[in-house]
Amino acid sequence: MQIYQTRAVLQEALAQFRRTGKSIALVPTMGNLHAGHLALVAAARAECDIVLATIFINPLQFSPGEDLSSYPRTLDADIAGLTASACDAVFIPATTEMYPNGLDNQTLVSVPGLTARHCGASRPGHFDGVCTVVSKLLHLTGPDAAFFGEKDYQQLQVIRKMVSDLCMPVIIRGVPVQRSEDGLALSSRNGYLTDAEREVAPLLQQQLVSTRDSIVAGNTDYAALESAGMQALATAGFRPDYIAVCDAATLEPATAANTDLVILAAAWLGKTRLIDNITLQRA
Ligand code: AMP
Repeated sequence: MQIYQTRAVLQEALAQFRRTGKSIALVPTMGNLHAGHLALVAAARAECDIVLATIFINPLQFSPGEDLSSYPRTLDADIAGLTASACDAVFIPATTEMYPNGLDNQTLVSVPGLTARHCGASRPGHFDGVCTVVSKLLHLTGPDAAFFGEKDYQQLQVIRKMVSDLCMPVIIRGVPVQRSEDGLALSSRNGYLTDAEREVAPLLQQQLVSTRDSIVAGNTDYAALESAGMQALATAGFRPDYIAVCDAATLEPATAANTDLVILAAAWLGKTRLIDNITLQRA
């Protein structure tokens, strides 16, 4: 597997691939790779000739007080995992390489509307940081397709909207959530959980399943389902941020007219913020 650290070397290598007619897949990550990330690599591998992963902990998407400095950094293991997954190349830029003019007064890419609620409301500036870095990576690499996890459901929808609004010539693919055997969505932040919190963590997905089952059984009082879900999470020991039954595309609160739904949830367990979601179709 090739390792690139600078834009110049990356772009020269990609130009060479393109000259030989190879299609390119981009898999952006922040590293500390687990089976969720490697599922993106596998999906990319199945679709394109060249799979390019990126590992970059993007300071712009962390708010002050969040876990930028403690975010897990496991570069050797990440490179081993990517190599074993038949990834062709990885771009691991320094912050100065991605932000050559510094982070202050950086041009930002914003997707209003879709970022107004949910994680966008709880983490001001987060999605501007995500959209800015993802658009930089898309500009730098010009991939045929880019792969993102459905685990970060709002992020995936925001990126789809950004790419559509900015007429970016790239296909965005969503890859299903990868979970532990007990249902907990894999996340680099799961490593922050204490043993006791790790026992409780799967209840987040169980709550989503139970809310989904109530809707499938005919309950359309979404506000009541949301408050009951928040209450159940609080009783289990979480500090719930939100549970929201939404239209799956717009992420606006679901109405009786919506048939494609997503239930989004975020909740704190101690110092760890967990997110998860479940999609469903109403008849
Ligand atoms: P991150 O390194 O956390 O920024 O994630 C990089 C990419 O991996 C994003 O597109 C995430 O949505 C995706 N991802 C992270 N965890 C999972 C998971 N459990 N299942 C599927 N995709 C995931």
